[in-house]
Amino acid sequence: MENQTRREFLKTMGFAAASVGTLSVLPSCTSLGQTWRAERKQPNIIVIISDDMGYADIGCHGCRDIATPNIDSVAQNGIRFTNGYVSCPVCSPTRAGLMTGRYQQRFGHEFNTGPPPGGLREQVGLPLTEVTMADVLKSAGYVTGAVGKWHLGIAPHFHPFKRGFDEFFGFLHGGHSYIDPSLGTFNPILRGTEPVDEKEYLTDAFSREAVAFVERHHNEPFFLYLAYNAVHTPMQAPQRYKGSFKHITNPKRQVYAGMLTAMDEGIGKVLAKLRELGLEEDTLLFFVNDNGGPTGANGSRNDPLRATKGTMYEGGIRVPFMVQWPGRLKAGRVYNHPVIALDILPTAAAAVGVRVPRDRKLDGVNLLPYLTGKKKNSPHESLFWRSAQNHAVRKGKFKLVKMGGETGLFDLSSDVGETKDLKAEQPDVLKEMEKTYERWNSQMIDPAWTIQRRKRKTTKKKKKT
Ligand code: CA
Repeated sequence: MENQTRREFLKTMGFAAASVGTLSVLPSCTSLGQTWRAERKQPNIIVIISDDMGYADIGCHGCRDIATPNIDSVAQNGIRFTNGYVSCPVCSPTRAGLMTGRYQQRFGHEFNTGPPPGGLREQVGLPLTEVTMADVLKSAGYVTGAVGKWHLGIAPHFHPFKRGFDEFFGFLHGGHSYIDPSLGTFNPILRGTEPVDEKEYLTDAFSREAVAFVERHHNEPFFLYLAYNAVHTPMQAPQRYKGSFKHITNPKRQVYAGMLTAMDEGIGKVLAKLRELGLEEDTLLFFVNDNGGPTGANGSRNDPLRATKGTMYEGGIRVPFMVQWPGRLKAGRVYNHPVIALDILPTAAAAVGVRVPRDRKLDGVNLLPYLTGKKKNSPHESLFWRSAQNHAVRKGKFKLVKMGGETGLFDLSSDVGETKDLKAEQPDVLKEMEKTYERWNSQMIDPAWTIQRRKRKTTKKKKKT
């Protein structure tokens, strides 16, 4: 973007004048190169997000029937969050929170974006008033790329190109076939804005594109957002794993194992490329899953957590979440204070040395001082969730859940499975938690659109996307 245009763009996006000012002296992205990297030690940023994976389905969470050595390696090379959350138990709002560092209820992105009926297509998507993580990193001269599932709006003005990304390969809706990506003209695989006739198993195609992005931009600071739709339905594994998971008796989970293995291997290829190019030390890489496993739909497992995707229980919102940055963060540790995917943006911005927008409230916290041990306290006093009439709040060891009209109070330090309701025993805690929630809730706005569901001719079971 030409400097003047970018300056105006950033001004309208609410960036501080000082931050905007630095852009005018920056050379173009391609000429920044290794000199800048060597002098400033500005890390590359990679955020890998999986879709509908179970909490229990990685080796470092105790999974024994499916191997995930590459995802596990991120925890081994970095830090695993044992109380890692996303801001919603379904796909699109979680992405809206991650991409902005803000509770998505601040800007009405409370529900999934699709499939929107009729004219709503133009209004349903990450509001254009929001500044994305790609906007922030682009303002620091980073080249930015999104690969995979977008799910933040399908109208042209919501396209990744309009939200800070220089490159895009993927699809705009909430889900996609893996085995014949050319199926379905309404939701094609796009390179940029153009449909492509992709033949490869979709997870492999996304891995291929992610590796190519790293290769293409290894001489300049980059931000890669790699959003696999694995292991979301439809249940389709690559042919090469046929017969590989005979030890798994549940047929759905057998297929799930193939889908998960393909993603894990793809992540391994990205990690290997970083090592090959000597970039591993200087790359801050997050792995997070977007919501709890929908166990019945895809054969995932969330144990020992309660319930599934779509709920305010831990099985809906506590997810595999880890970070590595070998050049800065000590390897092989676990971090137990609650953190949330909203923290990724401010952490990445701090690592890069760029300011986040100051004209709005960011809910995410820069985790670096906590992860280096400089700060010992919890990054968040409380965490909050809201989806229509359901909500939850986590404060210290306690969690209040309002789900389907039922209220529950749980002590997660002794009862991570949320089996023992303490509201009768701890009325004062209950009252305090409710007050805390109401204070937060009063800052949020009403949803900008209603829950979006596909209309079916024969309405059986309503599905979340
Ligand atoms: Ca999801």
